[in-house]
Amino acid sequence: MLTLHLASGNAHKVEEFRRLAVATDLAVDIVSAQVGGGMPVVDEDTGTFVGNARKKARALQACRPAGTWVLADDSGLCVDALSGAPGVESAYFAGPAGDAAANLNKLIALMKDVPVDQRSAHFICVLVLLDADGTEHILEGRCDGRLAMAPRSGGGFGYDPLFMPAGHEQTFAELADGLKEQLSHRARAWAHLAAWLRSGNRSQHA
Ligand code: IMP
Repeated sequence: MLTLHLASGNAHKVEEFRRLAVATDLAVDIVSAQVGGGMPVVDEDTGTFVGNARKKARALQACRPAGTWVLADDSGLCVDALSGAPGVESAYFAGPAGDAAANLNKLIALMKDVPVDQRSAHFICVLVLLDADGTEHILEGRCDGRLAMAPRSGGGFGYDPLFMPAGHEQTFAELADGLKEQLSHRARAWAHLAAWLRSGNRSQHA
């Protein structure tokens, strides 16, 4: 079984990637950065999803034994009416505290006068995988949709109460259990990763 060390100490993220591995029937073990010394502090200041994910992946690989496979992700919500904001700043949209409720409220306020037909948005997730010899593989997932006129909750996190994926009238926060995990930007990026790991390419490295 391939072991992927996740460049995050966030237990929810570890669990989500484990569920994605099971859902895609992939024999990989996802190990939290908490195991083996914690996640080194990384300034997510590159201005791009790829740059930030790469920085996290390289920081973790640098402090793990040679040959360790590392996976890092970076994601965010891009709103067309706001020229792509909050984008790479999604976690810190309302300030450095990374306050999810404040971020959501800021987005609601900025969008309050934007009409229904101008509320398109998409989530992006970039995965950077570093294999045993440090070679980088970049996989991207995107989930298109639009913002509801008002937040509608039920669960979820971050911008979930406002975002409706294409083809659905419910927000990410309202979708039935498991459905978000099939549609999400992370699921789509993971699907590319799973396909790559299953392909002949991987056997050249593992
Ligand atoms: P991260 O890179 O996965 O830590 O995500 C950065 C930020 O993007 C989060 O703090 C959230 O504000 C937002 N975000 C990413 N994915 C989602 C999602 O699936 N739902 C809601 N918000 C998300």
